[in-house]
Amino acid sequence: MNPVSQIVRAARPVYRKLSTSAPVASVKAIPPTGFCFELSDEQKALQELARKFTREEIVPVAAHYDKTGEYPWPIVKKAWELGLMNGHIPEHCGGVGNLGVFEECLIGEEFSFGCTGIGTAVGGTGLGQAPVILAGNKEQQKKYLGRLIEEPLLAAYCVTEPGAGSDVAGVKTRAEKKGDEWILNGQKMWITNGGVANWYFVLARTNPDPKCPASKAFTGFIVEREWAGVTPGRKEQNMGQRASDTRGITFEDVRIPKENVLIGEGAGFKIAMGAFDKTRPPVAAGATGLAQRALYEATRYSLERKTFGVPIAQHQAVAFLLADMAIGVETARLSWQRAAWMVDHGQKNTVLASVAKCHASEIANKAASDAVQIFGGNGFNTEYPVEKLMRDAKIYQIYEGTTQIQKLIISRELLVAAKQTNA
Ligand SMILES: Cc1cc2nc3c(=O)[nH]c(=O)nc-3n(C[C@H](O)[C@H](O)[C@H](O)COP(=O)(O)OP(=O)(O)OC[C@H]3O[C@@H](n4cnc5c(N)ncnc54)[C@H](O)[C@@H]3O)c2cc1C
Repeated sequence: MNPVSQIVRAARPVYRKLSTSAPVASVKAIPPTGFCFELSDEQKALQELARKFTREEIVPVAAHYDKTGEYPWPIVKKAWELGLMNGHIPEHCGGVGNLGVFEECLIGEEFSFGCTGIGTAVGGTGLGQAPVILAGNKEQQKKYLGRLIEEPLLAAYCVTEPGAGSDVAGVKTRAEKKGDEWILNGQKMWITNGGVANWYFVLARTNPDPKCPASKAFTGFIVEREWAGVTPGRKEQNMGQRASDTRGITFEDVRIPKENVLIGEGAGFKIAMGAFDKTRPPVAAGATGLAQRALYEATRYSLERKTFGVPIAQHQAVAFLLADMAIGVETARLSWQRAAWMVDHGQKNTVLASVAKCHASEIANKAASDAVQIFGGNGFNTEYPVEKLMRDAKIYQIYEGTTQIQKLIISRELLVAAKQTNA
């Protein structure tokens, strides 16, 4: 039994399932008290395990993976052995089955303090799994999620294309039904873990009628990497998070058995978008971890570096930058905690997942930029830790829906509610 299983087993009596018919096994009982900011003993133990792992396994090698762009397989395998991945996979697939999005975020924030490239390499598999956890039937879950428990294998989420990112309804990859199979053709782009995943969630258009609404025009499939016609492209050379593997993937006459359709024909758009309720809080937690690292490095440096005869921390202009960073870290953390808590308790969190993702991304970018400022010239140099933070931070404003798309989601909801109130 890995350390995470031991922690969860010990804490299990604390939780009771809200409902046996709940779609997600990890839905937790709402505590009888009101607000509580205290982590449970189980959560503290998980956080400490992830923190130790980050300190001992990630921090020492982060610069190496950033420089070489190698995929961090040794780290992924160790995280897998310890149970620090896949904690949300249901028990009937061999998983622990009791960890929620909140616990996933706790672990992800720690990993991202060490390196968000490695954090994304590990977290990207969660994005690939989310549609199968959300919409897979028992057989699909057992086959594909179970595999990830048996061996250190990964999943990936294939929605974006060269011509369609924010505008998901513009996806052109198509699948046609032929007998008991679907034939998949098209091209995906910017797929995290695209070259290393064992299987993919793929969104494809199945209704060619341009008038068909997005909610009915797309279907979600599970596609195996080794199937004929699946070709990942070269590893993309990105600005930051270079340990993460990002690729285009071509699908050419790929034969998909009908058993690999999620829910049914036409359900894909809802599944692909629904997954974000569970995956945006972890992205926000990753951004928070990066901001925390920026604050940590900048604080230490400001106490060592002297100008005008005093440590720069004693200049109020510098101290206030640190204070702003601390305010950012705290509020970013609260935002992912709220969004994660809600989804774990079966509450609709779409807007607050967007709030968390948007806010934490902006905070991470500001904190990284301010850390570079506090380091002065040294901050601009690769011998110091903060330039990597600034490069790594940028992607948080882009992947899993850009900052603008998060604001679109938030403002739409706001305006609908306002109109209902006025009606
Ligand atoms: C490193 C990396 C990893 C990724 N991983 C994955 C993955 O695993 N799976 C996957 O499917 N995708 C992945 N993506 C894709 C990512 O989700 C998209 O890049 C992102 O959604 C933006 O889409 P786009 O690049 O097509 O930009 P566009 O949609 O072309 O947007 C360009 C600009 O226009 C703005 N914009 C667009 N529409 C609007 C609007 N209606 N209102 C206001 N502003 C708007 C955007 O905010 C952006 O600033 C990844 C991308 C990167 C770079």
